[in-house]
Amino acid sequence: MIILAYFCIPEIKNRIYMFKTLNLQEKKEEIAGGGIAERVKCLIIGSGPAGYTAAIYAARANLNPVLYEGLQPGGQLTTTTEVENYPGYPEGVTGPVLMEDLKKQAMRFGADVRWGMATRVDFSGPAHKVWIDESLLIEAETVIIATGATAKYLGLEDEKKYAGGGVSACATCDGFFYRGKDVAVVGGGDTAAEEAMYLAGLCRKVYLIVRRDVLRASRVMAERVKKTPNIEILWKHQTKGLFGDGVVEGAALVKNLGEPGEEEVRIKIDGFFLAIGHTPNSEIFAVYLDRDPVGYIRTIPGSSKTNVPGVFACGDVQDPHYRQAITAAGSGCMAAIDAERYLMEKAN
Ligand code: FAD
Ligand code: NAP
Repeated sequence: MIILAYFCIPEIKNRIYMFKTLNLQEKKEEIAGGGIAERVKCLIIGSGPAGYTAAIYAARANLNPVLYEGLQPGGQLTTTTEVENYPGYPEGVTGPVLMEDLKKQAMRFGADVRWGMATRVDFSGPAHKVWIDESLLIEAETVIIATGATAKYLGLEDEKKYAGGGVSACATCDGFFYRGKDVAVVGGGDTAAEEAMYLAGLCRKVYLIVRRDVLRASRVMAERVKKTPNIEILWKHQTKGLFGDGVVEGAALVKNLGEPGEEEVRIKIDGFFLAIGHTPNSEIFAVYLDRDPVGYIRTIPGSSKTNVPGVFACGDVQDPHYRQAITAAGSGCMAAIDAERYLMEKAN
């Protein structure tokens, strides 16, 4: 119960975070004494499936990894209830429990898991510098970036009200719960097209809510969507709000907003899926690392290597395509192995 309250109530999380940060800062001042605070072999930034898996592998390879959890310990999965597609849990598992299990597994092998946020980096020299909470400076021989990506929301109060009750930003994750039902997808890009197609295979009807009169998606994807009989595109519609008794039962839309013929349209749906893009949490690395136009860190294909030797990226922060817990975990494993090999080559 207490664990659930901790994960569900941001206020409690923030207070605990501030309390722990204060304690950490006291320790730092003792250690730092004005100079370099700490030197580590392997620094992992982020505590989602990618970060913890990297920590498990790095710890078992004797890299003595230090992992900073950031503002969302456990990552995105702590905001969801059932996870049914992570291998090894035949009955499914809740996101918070899965992430606690991964954390325990990393700590069992000696990973040093800490509260704190990487706020600045300098990857210009042979040792990689990372500042934690703008005060503690860590010099790391290898850095594994596992900072994830954040789904964009419309910013409606109802998105929060119905979180876990019909609002989702991941069709692959939650679509299964809406089999045979009616749902809506918001967005007109490739992600929205993909999510709508995926849901069309599961649901009775899919409304695609598009704010303009064209799709941004590639032509081939757009054509596929248009040809799918159970997808109805609502052109020039914007979402005003959601309604329902405890769970989503429908959406209130506005057609032709601010134009002649503006009207309110209500649709009955059970699920409301956001597909208006993601923001990779890569801003603090922008000066040093190659990123794509959206902000995803570019890695050398088939590896987790970035353009800076000794700096590796894994999970959603470098993955515009799959963004799943298992793919994040897999790439975390790759990053730890790449880091270990890098250190071995450097030593020889
Ligand atoms: P994240 O889980 O995003 O974790 C990022 C971590 O980095 C966080 O711990 C954060 O605190 C930390 N961080 C960020 N910036 C910093 C910084 N500057 N310093 C220190 N730390 C930092 N996938 C599935 O496979 N199955 C599902 O059922 C499923 N359901 C989902 C439900 C929801 C509601 C959401 C939002 C996603 C779901 N996903 C699901 C997707 C899955 O959660 C992600 O693909 C996965 O969590 C990505 O893992 P990650 O380790 O790359 O990053
Ligand atoms: P995107 O291309 O940026 O598209 C975002 C969509 O959401 C746009 O249609 C945009 O409308 C709409 N949108 C944004 N804010 C909105 C709001 N407040 N209200 C209503 N609609 C809003 O993002 P994406 O689809 O996630 O794709 C990101 C990148 O990944 C793209 O380069 C894409 O090609 C690529 N991608 C490729 C594939 C693939 O090849 N299979 C799959 C997924 C993603 P407007 O069009 O009006 O701006």
